[in-house]
This record gives sequence, C-alpha cells and structure tokens, in this order.
Amino acid sequence: MSNQSTSSFGSTGPRGRGKVVGVPKRCWCGEGVVALISKSDMNPCRRYYRCGFTAKHRLRNDEHTFKWVDEALLNEIETLIDKTREIEQELKELRTERMVFERMVSEKLEIKIENEVLEKVEEALSEAKASSKKMMIVMVIGCMILLGITKFVG
Ligand SMILES: [Zn+2]
Repeated sequence: MSNQSTSSFGSTGPRGRGKVVGVPKRCWCGEGVVALISKSDMNPCRRYYRCGFTAKHRLRNDEHTFKWVDEALLNEIETLIDKTREIEQELKELRTERMVFERMVSEKLEIKIENEVLEKVEEALSEAKASSKKMMIVMVIGCMILLGITKFVG
C-alpha cells in the first residue's frame, strides 16, 4: 500500500497552520480535504481528514490539513452543544421579552378598557341624570296633582 495510508502522525491533532475546529472543508493551501483511513500501528483503522494535495503527493510531516475524524466530529458536537445552549439562552430572552411585551400590551389594553368603561359610565350617568330630571318633573307634577285632588277631596 501507499505511504500515506501508513500515516506516521501520532495522536496529536492538527498541526501548525491547518488548525481548524470541526470538520475541515478545505486546506489552507486551497486544496479540498479528503477522508482517509489510518493504517498506522498507533491508530489502526482510525479515520482522518487530509489535505487532498498531500494525499495525492504522499507528503508527510507537512503543515497541510490533518485531522482525526473522531476529533473533528467531537468538535462539531461540542460546537452544536454550544450553539444549542446559545439558542436556549436566546429563546429564554425572547420569552422574557415576549412576557414583558404582553404585559405592556395587556396593561395598555386594560387602560383602554378602563377608559372606555369610564366613558360608558359617564354617558350612562348623564343619561340617568337627564332621565331622573324628567322623572323628578313627572313626580313633582304627580305630587301636585295628588295634592290638588286631596285638597279637592278634603
Ligand atoms: Zn493543503
């Protein structure tokens, strides 16, 4: 088999310039990254990402992209966990904001309803005043008539 499959890299992750978090997509040299399987005694059957250029030219101990797949995936998972945490935090903040907003809206609504109710009450009161005035007049007239009748009777 070829030299590149008997990778001499130890368990150290990325070296030098090619240090990336997560799954590398492209080497710093511009070459795409390929996934290979290690056949070294240290890491048999361990998958790794490698700069396509160095894989093609079977270079070793260079500064091109090299990263263990499991480590890269672990990075990805850690990033995802961080992101999830961030999203949860954002959601919490959004919920609090919504609660504050809803409280504001309901307070405003309450004020509006209160004003409307007050207006209605005032309207009803003025109407009642007007009708009670009429009632008073009717009652006064009624009393006068009654008094007149009793006077006539008496
Ligand atoms: Zn490269």
